[in-house]
Amino acid sequence: MSFLKKIAKYLVLKLSNLLFNLLYFKIQKKNITFCYHEISNKPSDFQKKFNLNVKPSVFRKQIQVLNNIFEKKNSFLVSFDDGYEGSLTEGLKILDKFNIKPIYFICYYCLKNNFPLVSSLVSYLEKKKNKKFETYCLINKIKKPFFLNINEEQLNTCLKKNNINIGDVLNYQGKFLKIKKLINSKKLFIGNHSYKHFNGTALSNINFEKDINRNYQKLKIYKNYKNYYAFTNGRFDNDKLKILNKNKYTKIFSSNNTVKKKNNLFDRICLDNNDDNEQKIKFKIIIGILYNFGFYKFASFKNDND
Ligand SMILES: [Zn+2]
Repeated sequence: MSFLKKIAKYLVLKLSNLLFNLLYFKIQKKNITFCYHEISNKPSDFQKKFNLNVKPSVFRKQIQVLNNIFEKKNSFLVSFDDGYEGSLTEGLKILDKFNIKPIYFICYYCLKNNFPLVSSLVSYLEKKKNKKFETYCLINKIKKPFFLNINEEQLNTCLKKNNINIGDVLNYQGKFLKIKKLINSKKLFIGNHSYKHFNGTALSNINFEKDINRNYQKLKIYKNYKNYYAFTNGRFDNDKLKILNKNKYTKIFSSNNTVKKKNNLFDRICLDNNDDNEQKIKFKIIIGILYNFGFYKFASFKNDND
């Protein structure tokens, strides 16, 4: 980070209370979604590498602060991506005390079959410097990082050629929650996060549509399913957005503050282990708003049927 950026960050952090109060009218009118993955005291190597974990004690603190900031019930949404064990055992326990209903964005195939998400599987192969895998990616001109650019056909070919110990990959990735504890629970919602966690932009439009539909067909039968979609790795393009709209997804989420939001596309704010006090949490929210310079759009969750 450059010197100037550091000073700017310091000033915004110091002034976070003041700035937050100035922006409060905007925050009160809109509603904000927070993006989490795992809540655990023992994160996996994969979760550590990609900063996907928040300790339960820090998570509790964050929820306390958010609950105070957003006085109105349901004016913020907590979302968990990927279906990790602690997000249910630790995360829901804490949220339940505050009477907060989160949404879990899940990949049915992975949870049902205890099979690693594409992102963790490929990240594992990259980490292990699996020669066969690397060579295949290079020959097929798959760009790095491979997990963002590999498609289903390519991965299947690699898996056939490689003898991969799935148990090792799951150890690296982190445990999944038990899907039967999620479905039909009145304490939470579930949403679509693709079938196997391929990066949406790596798939052709046809295959992307097939993929989201496979997940939808499995999840739609559950009472607590909402037709919301969260992009894997937060990445998307206009074609994929159009496909989701054609399939009538009412809310679509990304998780990086890089684009102007429109229609039913919403950004999410990712809090992490460092956001362990009110000032830092307010800072993250301010940055999220300022980054999009007024174009920031938050989801509204006052109505469960929304
Ligand atoms: Zn994900």
